[in-house]
Amino acid sequence: MGYGAASTKVFVGQLATEEDLKRDWVMTHEMVHLAFPSVAEQHHWIEEGLATYVEPIARVEAGDLEPQSIWHDLVEGLPKGLPQAGDNGLDYTHTWGRTYWGGALFCTLADTRYISARTITAACRTRCGRSSPAAVISKSVGRLNAR
Ligand SMILES: [Zn+2]
Repeated sequence: MGYGAASTKVFVGQLATEEDLKRDWVMTHEMVHLAFPSVAEQHHWIEEGLATYVEPIARVEAGDLEPQSIWHDLVEGLPKGLPQAGDNGLDYTHTWGRTYWGGALFCTLADTRYISARTITAACRTRCGRSSPAAVISKSVGRLNAR
């Protein structure tokens, strides 16, 4: 956006209440983007998939969302990320479903089966110089809520 570093600009309606902001997922999703490096357009699915996957986890950790909602949202959303006929893989199929939910499906599998959470956390520490994105974001969301 051009402020000399990664940034996010979010417009909030004048009539938005504190409760509206507490229920909203957009700022948390955008903050996940700040914790992950930008990648080439072809790999955009990992940016959106990670943000889609981590956002509800961070909100649960911040106390803004019930834990069961994570599973509810994954059960509803992940099928939208499955490959359809003619799919050429996440790098070459730039539909909304494959980008957001296909990427989230990748992250879910990586987090739960193929890559240990310790590996992801170590990678994040190397990249970000701090703890996991979910921990960083939930701490930040907590700070915003305290205002
Ligand atoms: Zn996004």
